[in-house]
Amino acid sequence: MHRIHFGLTACLMAFLLFSGCGGKAPEPDHSVGASLSISDVPLNECIAVEAESGAGSLVLVSNGHGWSFPDAQLIQIYGNKPACYSLRAADLQLQPEALTALNAMLSDYSETTGDRSVNVVAAWRDREMQESLYNRAVETHGEAYANAYIARPGGSEHHTGLAVDLAVWHADRSTSADFTPDGDRLWIYENCARYGYILRYPAGKENITGIAAESWHFRYVGVPHAEIMGIKGLVLEEYLDFLQGYRVDGEHLYFGEYELWYCESDAIFVPKFGEYTLSSDNRGGFIVTVKR
Ligand SMILES: [Zn+2]
Repeated sequence: MHRIHFGLTACLMAFLLFSGCGGKAPEPDHSVGASLSISDVPLNECIAVEAESGAGSLVLVSNGHGWSFPDAQLIQIYGNKPACYSLRAADLQLQPEALTALNAMLSDYSETTGDRSVNVVAAWRDREMQESLYNRAVETHGEAYANAYIARPGGSEHHTGLAVDLAVWHADRSTSADFTPDGDRLWIYENCARYGYILRYPAGKENITGIAAESWHFRYVGVPHAEIMGIKGLVLEEYLDFLQGYRVDGEHLYFGEYELWYCESDAIFVPKFGEYTLSSDNRGGFIVTVKR
């Protein structure tokens, strides 16, 4: 009750502010960071909702932001993919939205370059899988290596079903090699953002991500987030900090046909009408992404 009352008050105040300004909302431009104080959808056309932490494409999962393993919808990649790429195992799974985007990206990649050698070697992992991977890395390469490359159980974003590790088949198609931006594969690094994917652990950001540079690990964050992150050169941790500057009751962020704002978990406001997505950031906030 208290939450709704607070929401309505905030909405009313915002509405009065907007009314006072009068006139038509300026045309959103396509540059990132174009923020306007007048929203196309005034807050009095929003409703307060409650949402589960951990749901959505923008969740941050790391050793510092553990995963609570909420129920996530997963789909097997095998049987639900085009023939232009391979799988290391038949039981690999992703969230449906991440798989749809991966299929589109790798189909377009294959059509453009003629290359069909991409091999998906890792996708969703549960806690036990991550634990055995971490322990194996410690045994084989030592603890320093394991800590640099392998997240602790509960701290891997593979737990979300939104991340994939890519590899390449050698010419004899017998073994898999690390994935790097060489030759045709540069296309994937240059175009993944259009499909909502980011290179999650780039070189030069290790002090922020806590993970050594990994040229093979791609993460689905969705559109338009991947594009904004690419243009601004932000990793997920930095992007979520950046979005926190665009509060529901303050200036919103405009990018192309999208409008974005950040909400605290106890005051989540979404548009009453129209198309939007809501994502937890897995650190106490939520991001609303409205498509115009
Ligand atoms: Zn990975």
